[in-house]
Formats: sequence, structure tokens, C-alpha cells
Amino acid sequence: MPAFSLGASVVFADIDPVTLGLDAADIERRITSRTKAIVVVHYLSHPADMDPILQVAAKHGVKVIEDVSHALGGLYKGRPLGTIGDVGAMSMMTGKAFAIGEGGMMVTRDQTVYERAIAFGHYERYGSNIETPELQPYIGIPLGGIKYRMHQLSSAVGRVQLKYYEERIAEIERAMSYFWEGLSGLPGIRPHRPEAGSGSRNGGWYAARGRYEPVALGGLSVTSFCAALRAEGVLSVSPGCNLPLHLHPFFHSADVYGHGKPTNLAHANRDLRQPVGSLPVTESISARLFALPWFKHEWRDQIDEYVLAFRKVIAQHQELLAVDTGNPPTLGGWHFFNHSSKKD
Ligand SMILES: *Cc1c(COP(=O)(O)O)cnc(C)c1O
Repeated sequence: MPAFSLGASVVFADIDPVTLGLDAADIERRITSRTKAIVVVHYLSHPADMDPILQVAAKHGVKVIEDVSHALGGLYKGRPLGTIGDVGAMSMMTGKAFAIGEGGMMVTRDQTVYERAIAFGHYERYGSNIETPELQPYIGIPLGGIKYRMHQLSSAVGRVQLKYYEERIAEIERAMSYFWEGLSGLPGIRPHRPEAGSGSRNGGWYAARGRYEPVALGGLSVTSFCAALRAEGVLSVSPGCNLPLHLHPFFHSADVYGHGKPTNLAHANRDLRQPVGSLPVTESISARLFALPWFKHEWRDQIDEYVLAFRKVIAQHQELLAVDTGNPPTLGGWHFFNHSSKKD
């Protein structure tokens, strides 16, 4: 969405059904001479498969922006997420695994990119120490017109939190591993996590999902599977993941800046809108995912109770099939904090 404010357009590529990150082959099919950058989300705390994406980017001379907001502290083949592409962007808003209030961080090892970011979004920090020649005439003015920096208090909170973050995500990793060990050998469910020994790891297990294989449970829908778990008291499970963003009307019809046409087409030389059916993996993945309880502590007695509930539901999947009404037409979605003056 921020691409719109830069006069850029957005084209979505499909995802890999295992990592749930971008599929490099599908990215390559969509690259044109006008493509500037690939934005890779390390989705649901799992690292995207970066090597093939970097290869495609290098071949076509486009930049790679990693969005690490779901996977803070994650690793890809031993490398910290956010340090692999040209730029790493990290939201650290309230809900994330590393939460500091409202704020985020951008990392890059490219001095020009760094200075362009400062020039774009800082007021009274964009001074004569800027080395990039093409930015020097504009010193003093935030080129993006908006002061983007975070509130200092969030930054102060974050600097303290950072000292503990490795320790905290190590405990989350132990707790989530203990949970999945308790479920090993059961049909139909598997963790969405990198292979052991790959050097990759989930980052804080933010918004983590279990992978769901309906055929292994006689075709039981993920909706009924989650409903049964909720009936057992596991209230933190729900089917699916985020809705497919390429189908959101924002990318089809919103005219944000008054161009007299959809903003996503305002600077495009063709119709970039992606209709239903254009990203088959993305559009069908929700039937094969469910949200997990997010264990922050290795409290084994409590985790054991969750494991028991999962075991019970899976053991009785035949009985559940008899009352399974299937999945609704749309699964998953976002959690909204509604703006409302009414009392909920
Ligand atoms: C939370 C999130 C953002 C937005 O972060 P803000 O700090 O709310 O602007 C962007 N990308 C991903 C993947 C996120 O999860």
C-alpha cells in the first residue's frame, strides 16, 4: 500500500504452499522492464525461501525488500531475516512478537538507500551530514512530506526490550516445540516451521499457523476441526489466514489521490488488476491452515492440556465428519479494532 504514495503500482505474485512466502518462479513470470522491487513478507513468522528470490532479483536488476514484521528474530539458513535483501522493514506495533507500542525499524547496508530513507521521512534530522549528492540540494525538507519517525518513547521501550528478546523467543521456541512434539505422529496436522537442521527458524512464532491436511482426517473441514477444538476450550484456534489481498477492492477501485482512475492503475501502462483465480495457491491456502495457540512460556502442564484437546479431536474425527458442514465461502480474515462510539 505505501507503494501508492510513491507513484508505484502493485502486482501480486503467488505463494509457495509450504513456506507460504513468495514463489520465486511466479515472481519471475510477473517481472517486466518497469519492475523496481520485490517485497517479500516472511509470512506467519516463517522465513520465505530467499535464495531463489535473490537469484530472480539479481537476474532482472530489481531490489528486494524484506518485510520481517511477522518473523522478528527469525533466521534463513543462519542469516537474520531483514539482512538478506537490500532493505529489511520491521513493524514493531503492539501485536507483534517484538512489541514496542507503535513503531518500526528499517535496516540496510546501502548508504544511499539509508540516506534516501532519512531524506524521505525525517524533519530536522536531514542535515549537512547527508553524503548522497543528489539529496544535498534538498537538505532540510522531508521529501515525502510527512514526518515518519516513531515516537521516542516507543524507541526507548524498544531498546530495553531488545536486551531480552533473544531469551524470550528462545522460550517461545521451546514451548512451541514442546507443543508440536506432543502432537507428533498425529494425522492431519503439521507445524509451519522450517526443517530442523536447515539453519532457518521461525521468528517469535507471531501469528503462527498449523498446516492442515483434510484428506488425512477423512476430508474433515478445517472449520469443523477448529470448532471442535474450541468446544474443548482451545479458544485461540481459528481456520485460515489473512484474506487474499489481491482481491481487496483497494487494489481494484480505490482512487486515493484523485487521478480519476484506480490508484493502482494511475501510473501503469496496462490493467494490473488481478481477479479471482489469478493466484490459485493464495486463494486456496486458507482451507489448509489454522491459527495456533501462541505459547510464550514453557509451561508444560498447561501445554499438555492443549495437546490432550488436539488428540481428542483428532481421535474422534469420524464422529465429527457426520456433522461437518464444510468451510464457508471465505475463510480467515483480519482482526479489526473497530472505530466505534457504540458500546460493544
Ligand atoms: C503489522 C504489519 C505491517 C504494518 O505495521 P505497522 O507498524 O502497523 O505500520 C506491515 N507488514 C506486515 C507483514 C505486518 O504484519
